[in-house]
Amino acid sequence: MIETDIVIIGAGPTGLFAVFEAGLLKLKCHIIDGLPQPGGQLTELYPKKPIFDIPGYPSVGAGELIDNLMEQIKQFQPGFTLGEIAEKIDKLDDGTFIVTTNKGTAHKAKAVAIAGGLGSFEPRKPILKDLEFYEQEDRGVEYFVKDPEKFRGKKVVISGGGDSALDWSIFLSNVASEVTLVHRRNEFRGALDSVEKVQELKSAGKIKMITPGEVIGFKGSERIESVDIEVNGARMNVVTDYFIPLFGLTPKLGPIANWGLEIEKNAIKVNNALDYQTNIEGIYAIGDVNTYPGKLKLILCGFHEATLMCQSVYNRINPGKKYVLKYTTVSGIDGFDGSRKEAEKAVVKSID
Ligand SMILES: Cc1cc2nc3c(=O)[nH]c(=O)nc-3n(C[C@H](O)[C@H](O)[C@H](O)COP(=O)(O)OP(=O)(O)OC[C@H]3O[C@@H](n4cnc5c(N)ncnc54)[C@H](O)[C@@H]3O)c2cc1C
Repeated sequence: MIETDIVIIGAGPTGLFAVFEAGLLKLKCHIIDGLPQPGGQLTELYPKKPIFDIPGYPSVGAGELIDNLMEQIKQFQPGFTLGEIAEKIDKLDDGTFIVTTNKGTAHKAKAVAIAGGLGSFEPRKPILKDLEFYEQEDRGVEYFVKDPEKFRGKKVVISGGGDSALDWSIFLSNVASEVTLVHRRNEFRGALDSVEKVQELKSAGKIKMITPGEVIGFKGSERIESVDIEVNGARMNVVTDYFIPLFGLTPKLGPIANWGLEIEKNAIKVNNALDYQTNIEGIYAIGDVNTYPGKLKLILCGFHEATLMCQSVYNRINPGKKYVLKYTTVSGIDGFDGSRKEAEKAVVKSID
């Protein structure tokens, strides 16, 4: 049994930053995430995109922000259970919790922070014969571009009319040997500058565009060798190594919906006037997963909520003990790994 002070469900930016704030209060954390890597939506959905509204960063890549958060929390030695979904929460008589994953890993904690974002993401899939076969083990159908290098020098067919389809077509036009973008309509729903960029790349012969068109079937015995595309009632065949349908993702709250928490519009209701606690004492919900009047699903809001949540957990674990807010600039940081960070002491020069 893994034992900790706070078990955090979700390794997105909110869950990661909670480890830092908890560490300042000498509270240990263990994070569970269904994905194999930390980072939540940032790593899974838009690792290469720049974010412009993180305070102090005029621009930061989503992947870079996650790397920095991981670096920032390293000193507090969080535990990770990755690639496992938190399935069950049991509250014991002494007020502690046992969180159990789909693989049976049990975690005991004094408080639970659900930072589960929009839940687990499932791609919207096209209805195509033999899709399940080609989805497996690098047989050619991919719903996410996790590592663009995988497509270096390969032929790629991307389907979709939104930002993801446009952005990845643009990005992969510099990586893949051939990019074909297929969309059911002539108009795209993405950002205007992305649409213009795709148009430019099409004119430069770096992207092939098939509109209005639809991928209707696959060819290939071991893996994809080509796709059949319907264009204006006619049929054509395009040789490709990969087919990437980017029709959006459907978030599913998943097991979170079964934990007896008050749910409103697919999110967990919390007490935002105080500490982001749910209707079950000791269980908190922070970041995109919660809802309250005026809620904004933004990374910086998740950071704020994580900070207040940690203060509340501190008070819960140390009843009656008065906490005095300390600035890191003044108190420095004592890591659980024995490290110490502090500002250099001001040197007062004497004047003769
Ligand atoms: C394309 C795009 C662009 C964006 N751009 C910006 C932007 O510019 N600025 C901004 O502030 N915000 C932006 N956002 C929103 C931002 O990504 C979210 O606000 C942020 O990711 C929320 O962080 P989180 O940690 O609360 O949740 P998430 O990042 O969603 O992480 C939640 C994690 O919980 C895990 N999880 C869920 N349920 C379970 C379970 N039962 N067991 C185990 N793990 C579980 C999931 O696997 C996931 O990894 C953007 C979002 C998208 C999709």
